[in-house]
Amino acid sequence: MATRREVLKNATLTAAAGATAAFAAPLVSASVSSTGQRTHVQKITLEEHFLIPEFIGYFSTTYPNISPQIARTGLAALLDVGDRRIAAMDENSIDFQVLSIAGPSVQVERDASLALTRCRMANDFLAREIQKRPRRYGGFAHLPMQSPSAAAGELERCVRDLGFQGAMINGQTNGEYLDLDKYSVFWERVQALEAPIYLHPGNPVDHPAMFGDHPELWGPVCSWAFETGAHALRLVFSGVFERYSGVTVVLGHMGETLPLNLWRFDSRWPISHRGSMSLAQPPSFYIRRNIAITTSEVCSDISLRCALDAMDSDKVMFSADYPFEKLQVASRFMEQARISESERSKVASENARRLMRIDRAMGTGVMGKT
Ligand code: MN
Repeated sequence: MATRREVLKNATLTAAAGATAAFAAPLVSASVSSTGQRTHVQKITLEEHFLIPEFIGYFSTTYPNISPQIARTGLAALLDVGDRRIAAMDENSIDFQVLSIAGPSVQVERDASLALTRCRMANDFLAREIQKRPRRYGGFAHLPMQSPSAAAGELERCVRDLGFQGAMINGQTNGEYLDLDKYSVFWERVQALEAPIYLHPGNPVDHPAMFGDHPELWGPVCSWAFETGAHALRLVFSGVFERYSGVTVVLGHMGETLPLNLWRFDSRWPISHRGSMSLAQPPSFYIRRNIAITTSEVCSDISLRCALDAMDSDKVMFSADYPFEKLQVASRFMEQARISESERSKVASENARRLMRIDRAMGTGVMGKT
């Protein structure tokens, strides 16, 4: 009898039908030829955003977080999932993008039923775009987190019927974080589907005093990493990963500061004022087992070395954060990072293929290009 995973895998493949029969095409890994030239490093990126016109209003809530110029140019790039995006990928040797709606999207919608309707619209749109370019695009589902059961249902539809890789969630929803009991129904389904959940930054509902009079700290420079890192730690310390041991949560931005602090988490947790919370294992055990990270918007050898050593080289994946990070900068970093060739292959594409169940062939038109 087929296992659940095999059933899901077949569903994924069926959804990708029309792409190619060569699902098991060999990876083109980084290597240096006898003439000293590096061959094409196959690259999969996972935090690459788009928008549909109906979501521009939601996206505008992030304008206080980013410069007006980035908001303007970013919006134009986000609205294109066609030739312009593909050209940018080709120019920078990006083979495959897993696309996601730019946050916070419907997570700031107060009307829960409208949130579901709009999620379905966005996910159906993305499924059609993937079908047009199955060798270039994958997808993360957009979910109506206002209703955990509706979110679980839409996740299942997207993974089983549309062949998506998993889902992206933009932080809290109406002030509620994913460790609350109400989300148990969601995590149960996540585990059953073996669907990775990308926990992407979003703003909290309040504006803490520590960011007062410092608009530059409100967003990617500071607040998003702390907000998202704390959200992930809520999952760890509330025992979500103990209850759902098969769940994988993905953090962008080189792990939102967590890899740097594993030792401190383990050392200070036992002496913290932790109320009734208990864990069978040290915090780092769950972080290393249940969290994977991407390199999005962090093109630093120092940070990557730390992440690889702290998290395990099987848990670190390349990403850019298109259109907010320049693909040229990210791609060059992946090709030239001071890591071993084995690590480069894993980070650039192999880990994503395995963790995101991307088992179809990819084509770029730049294969073999150095
Ligand atoms: Mn992003």
